[in-house]
Amino acid sequence: MQQGQDRVFAGIRCTGRQHIGNYLGAIQNFVALQDKYECVYSIVDLHSLTTLTDTEELQDNVRETALDLLASGIRPEETILYAQSHVPEISELHLLLSMVTPIGRLMNVPTFKEKAKAQPENVNYGLVGYPVLQTADIVLYRANKVPVGEDQLPHLELAREIVRRFNNIFGDTFPEPEAELTSAPMVLGFDNRKMSKSYGNSLDMAATPEETFQAIRTAITDPQRVRRNDPGRPEVCNVYTLHGFFGPENQPKINSACRSAEIGCVDCKKMLSESVNDYFGPIRARREELSANPEAVDEILIDGARRARVIASEVLADVKDAVGLPASLPEMANVNA
Ligand code: SF4
Repeated sequence: MQQGQDRVFAGIRCTGRQHIGNYLGAIQNFVALQDKYECVYSIVDLHSLTTLTDTEELQDNVRETALDLLASGIRPEETILYAQSHVPEISELHLLLSMVTPIGRLMNVPTFKEKAKAQPENVNYGLVGYPVLQTADIVLYRANKVPVGEDQLPHLELAREIVRRFNNIFGDTFPEPEAELTSAPMVLGFDNRKMSKSYGNSLDMAATPEETFQAIRTAITDPQRVRRNDPGRPEVCNVYTLHGFFGPENQPKINSACRSAEIGCVDCKKMLSESVNDYFGPIRARREELSANPEAVDEILIDGARRARVIASEVLADVKDAVGLPASLPEMANVNA
């Protein structure tokens, strides 16, 4: 990082193919941030182990996630894009930060409580330490900016607390990461709950045009519009909201045609499918090209990890020095004495 330059860090969950809600809520911001900052983007496969018990698809999911990011416009020649587990320094820093993090604080994190409730048979140590690993992710690169929506500010505040505590005990070692507030719209899925793969209400960015229509046709619309000639209320309809993201120029026309029942919901959904297909067409084409050469994608991630480790190893050496630990075995005097 050049003097005075800000560095952004973001972790991306490796859920495999990303859905259109992931794109609107995060990926498009990650792409835009590259024009302003030096960016480090990690596909956080270690984090996923806190909830996964079947890891058979983990490697594929890392690659599929990378494909969506690269196809969307992440530029690996400038941005460091890598898989979290390729940078082993993260685990050591996680351990060191865990020593300054009060367990009571972690047990009170709402996300931990929710996850513990959702998987009572698997309330593992990693789940409690999730925010510590998130903090390590950020400070391993001395990143000072983290793209977050308003709702994620409490998570960042916990990272800032851990950093302050470490700095107070061991001296100024890390910058306190700041929020780079991004506008992340809440994208609802086709059943009107938050769009999520686990709810089965999402649409993959990489879906085919036919898959796109088949998914969109299941969308809940205005519940009062029972018959074709019932007037509709676009303001309560998620299909109308989605038009705003992918074809805003169509909204005025749909607004009046829906209210006067000139247009039926099936036609409206067809229009939305066309807009989504137009929007993601170039991204899908790039993804197709990239996925034809999986080795090249793996090489991008490996190259990213190499560059990440150059920074990470320097930072970790400083951290160990601050804590009072020997930097590394070869530098220890009289190791065999
Ligand atoms: S016509 Fe479109 S905006 Fe109106 S209720 Fe049907 S899907 Fe929603």
